[in-house]
Amino acid sequence: MASATVRRIGFTSPVRGMFLSLALIVLCLSADAQQQTTPKITALRASRMLDVNSGSMVHNAVILIQDDKITAAGAAMNIPAGAELMDLGDATLLPGLIDCHTHLMARMSDDDPQGYGLALLTKSQAFRALEGAADARVTLRAGFTAVRDVESEGSGYSDVALRDAINQGLVEGPRMQVATRGIAAIGRYFPFHISPDLPDFPTGAQMISGPEDARRAAREQIGHGANLLKVYADWDVPTLTIDEIRPIVEEAHKAKIKVAAHADSPDGIRNALTAGVDSIEHGHKADRSSFDLIKQKNAFWVPTIGYYFYAVDTAKSPQPHKYMQETLVRTRQNISIARELGVKIANGFDPDSAETHGKNSHEIIAMTKLGLSPLEAIRAATTNAAELMGWQDKV
Ligand SMILES: [Zn+2]
Repeated sequence: MASATVRRIGFTSPVRGMFLSLALIVLCLSADAQQQTTPKITALRASRMLDVNSGSMVHNAVILIQDDKITAAGAAMNIPAGAELMDLGDATLLPGLIDCHTHLMARMSDDDPQGYGLALLTKSQAFRALEGAADARVTLRAGFTAVRDVESEGSGYSDVALRDAINQGLVEGPRMQVATRGIAAIGRYFPFHISPDLPDFPTGAQMISGPEDARRAAREQIGHGANLLKVYADWDVPTLTIDEIRPIVEEAHKAKIKVAAHADSPDGIRNALTAGVDSIEHGHKADRSSFDLIKQKNAFWVPTIGYYFYAVDTAKSPQPHKYMQETLVRTRQNISIARELGVKIANGFDPDSAETHGKNSHEIIAMTKLGLSPLEAIRAATTNAAELMGWQDKV
């Protein structure tokens, strides 16, 4: 204890302190990973730490970190000689947060209906990867130390490159699982309204038709380094069929990775779950039968409602305003049904613009406004999210 170096950091508000401390933890970790060749122990000390599993608050918290791994955490633990001590004072610590539904490679504009196509037309994949690196940095600095990136939105396999660059310490960002290109039915995903004279115009997802095509896409994406696969089970109406989703799930599960399904409607959700997917993303038009099936299949629900919660009052025209308002009402009812049935909810903000990256915690706040308790919302962004990623032993 006597030989530990003490750095004292003051905070003005507990909430600000909580998020700052997270950011500090991860910044220190990434710096350590690059500079230290011998094991180095860092000790963090703070007034409180939330034990997310039990829901109880640990007082006089100490966390020991060796290189980039937490090795111990508890109340008033001894700090080993030689450890660097960071005393965070009157702060509350909680685990690094996880976002299970992000698109770091996406910087789209809601204002321009052709913005998606223009991005594909005017930005190289190299540039998209660098945008992704900037988005990864703001996400990490917002306290999110792991993300599941559910489709690179037309930037090919640049998400694989970003994930690997972060792992090698070349750029700063959260630990990533990447879905690479995503898989959609031909003509049923962005960009829409491209001239039929341009059949080779790049697409947001890998477009398929038929079970063999689906299997080929799954194998290609896994071969190029996907950590999960993403399918689009509907887009206004059901799109991929059960027979198309099933071979994708087979190939993924053989490779010990999971499948996330974009599915809003009861029919899309039923098709995706019948084919064996592991999570339903959005589910904005889900009904009680949808949640019965999610529960029965032991799948996760990732509601992605935070953007609507924050954007509803600033919608520029009546139609999106009405849609967002109705979706918020339905989601409030559906969160109540999911809680009643014990459906596992994982946190995901779905940011896809320069403005929304780094605002991931909006999702956690929105879920509490729509019916989750604060502890349930934090679990959605920590323990539940880790389980969805299959990283419950790591993060
Ligand atoms: Zn999304």
